[in-house]
Amino acid sequence: MKLEFFGAAGEVTGSCHILHVGPYKLLLDCGMIQGSRKDEDRNHDEFPFAADQIDAVVLSHTHLDHSGRLPLLVKRGFNGPIYAQNATKDLCRVLLLDAADLNERDTEAENRRRLRKGLLTIEPLYLREHVKQTLAKINGFAYRKREEILPGVSIRFHDAGHIMGSAIVEVTLSEGTLQRTLVFSGDLGQYDTPILHDPSVVEDADVVLMESTYGGRAHRDRNSTIREIGDIIKNAAHEHGNILIPAFAIGRSQDILYMLGKHYKQWKLENWRVFLDSPMAIEVSKIYWDYPHLYDEEATKLRRRINEMPELANLHLTRTVQESRVINRLKSGAIVIAGSGMCNGGRIVHHLKHNLWRRECHVIIVGYQARGSLGRQLVDGRRHVRIRGETIKVAAKIHTVGGLSAHGDQQDLCRWYGGFNNRPRLILVHGETASARALATKLERDLRAPVSVARPGQTVDLARIAH
Ligand SMILES: [Zn+2]
Repeated sequence: MKLEFFGAAGEVTGSCHILHVGPYKLLLDCGMIQGSRKDEDRNHDEFPFAADQIDAVVLSHTHLDHSGRLPLLVKRGFNGPIYAQNATKDLCRVLLLDAADLNERDTEAENRRRLRKGLLTIEPLYLREHVKQTLAKINGFAYRKREEILPGVSIRFHDAGHIMGSAIVEVTLSEGTLQRTLVFSGDLGQYDTPILHDPSVVEDADVVLMESTYGGRAHRDRNSTIREIGDIIKNAAHEHGNILIPAFAIGRSQDILYMLGKHYKQWKLENWRVFLDSPMAIEVSKIYWDYPHLYDEEATKLRRRINEMPELANLHLTRTVQESRVINRLKSGAIVIAGSGMCNGGRIVHHLKHNLWRRECHVIIVGYQARGSLGRQLVDGRRHVRIRGETIKVAAKIHTVGGLSAHGDQQDLCRWYGGFNNRPRLILVHGETASARALATKLERDLRAPVSVARPGQTVDLARIAH
């Protein structure tokens, strides 16, 4: 019985861990590597296992850095079941089909460049048909129900409070007389976020894999972040520019709409036009509104009152490219929420090109920006950036507001681990090394946690971990 780390060990993206139990091989997540082009090229690499030898996959949540290589796994011969929470199953339909389309478009563009240079063309990572085959393999489970997925392996999902359907995965493993419980945190949300519940307490485990994205940081207080966003909007109104908010289609877009709806009068939003400029975020929002039984108390009350979410009188849902292009002509008064969240692709790139060089415009960065991404360059204060082969001056004001992260910070992560009855062996994944180390130091000191940081390719013998 052993655990192997393949992705998201010593880095944030590409989540993928391999569990060996008796004759079976099970994957926890099969995520995409995201960041710079060089990093993303690694998605094409061979897996360190034969895809057709994997018996099942358990998916913690929909984000592409956890789910994005599932269709590649299927393309390379995986033929087993995939297990995910019900809402995750629905969200995967939207997200993975979009990923296939984006990948095909990017590959076409890349191949045009390659042909001009006299280089060989490349294949897309996967196609829509692979996504369709993948979706057909996903079985949806409710939270808290224990299900046997392989002889000797049962799983139970707990709400991770990170995005809709996000799960902490409790895996119970038996091999002969050997029994171990492994808890994989997936990505953990912040406490007291809008719409979603807090991360669930899990009390027992022999070994815990915990994310550490913000393990070295304290998020700003959520309320002061919300006040800051309100101030940015109110000040921007005098400057007659636009406001761009790069946002992930899942979670962040809905949080922002929820926040704008809640503060509509206070922030004088009647003077603005709000655009959700992302067909995917529009689809995802519909799924969010379809799962009211997963809302926290405040969102449940708000939904009962307005009967529909979000309530924003001047919200424009722009699905087509033509509608999106019209926004580019607006010089002022537009708040544009568009993907991708790290500005590496999607419609936000066009909006940045049209607004970054204008002093009267504002960009509000509300999410994590991986090393190498365009968003990270903006956060780092670069005065010029390259967009689609063009150098663009950065004159717009870049605001980085930390408090809205879908990830818990150091205190949240410690609080969640502190919920275990015992002090289970803890292995940190899904964080840049400095964040993981900072969190490990804190956990060792404050909670006496037996903690280590996962290394890529490392194997942990679960039999040797005390029960
Ligand atoms: Zn996530």
